[in-house]
Amino acid sequence: MEAIQAVNQAAALPKETQMLLKLREDRFFDKIPPQEVAEIIEKAAHSGGKLAGELKQKYPDMDVRKIAEALGLEVREKELPIDEQFVSVGYFEAPRLIVINRKMHEMDPFYHEEYPWLAADPWEDIAIAHEMFHYFQEQQAVDFVETYRVPLWKLGPYTHQTPIASLGEIAAMNFAEALLELDFYPGYLEMFLAAPYFPKEIANKAAQLLAEAKKYKE
Ligand SMILES: [Zn+2]
Repeated sequence: MEAIQAVNQAAALPKETQMLLKLREDRFFDKIPPQEVAEIIEKAAHSGGKLAGELKQKYPDMDVRKIAEALGLEVREKELPIDEQFVSVGYFEAPRLIVINRKMHEMDPFYHEEYPWLAADPWEDIAIAHEMFHYFQEQQAVDFVETYRVPLWKLGPYTHQTPIASLGEIAAMNFAEALLELDFYPGYLEMFLAAPYFPKEIANKAAQLLAEAKKYKE
């Protein structure tokens, strides 16, 4: 199927490209000084990888569910709606709950067939790891991602600043990649899991990403 080919190609984009595209999707992207873009991606990626390294040291030989348990996190499977505009693979709810979309397991045979590169790593483990990073964000245990700000507007001596949410997404995927020792970067996990539900829309999105990726290839 043509759609799946585009999705597979987008999923296989180099990690640097996926991270840049993800940052560009941020609604405040154009507030980021252009000369800072490469550096903040690198720092966000580093903060995710570093935290994963620390956890692996603290909890050697534990899988991601065991680590969640050790951290006092509850992992719950729940049927979440799947919508063209928004596909939720899972989410973190403060203080200690990770919810994974059980509904998507109905597509497991499809994923196994079409995404051979995903076979060794169940998607739900990636989702659990990703949401675990958001837990650490909530705990304010993550540096940089939480402290980086861009100015939005000024009023007299006051400058209103905002964090960049996409940096958290970039860091969370780097965290998942390092914690699970993936041999691919799951920057667009949601996109490829949504593909069997909305093949046309997702194929368009994948094609868009591929076109954009071409633009930013140096
Ligand atoms: Zn996230």
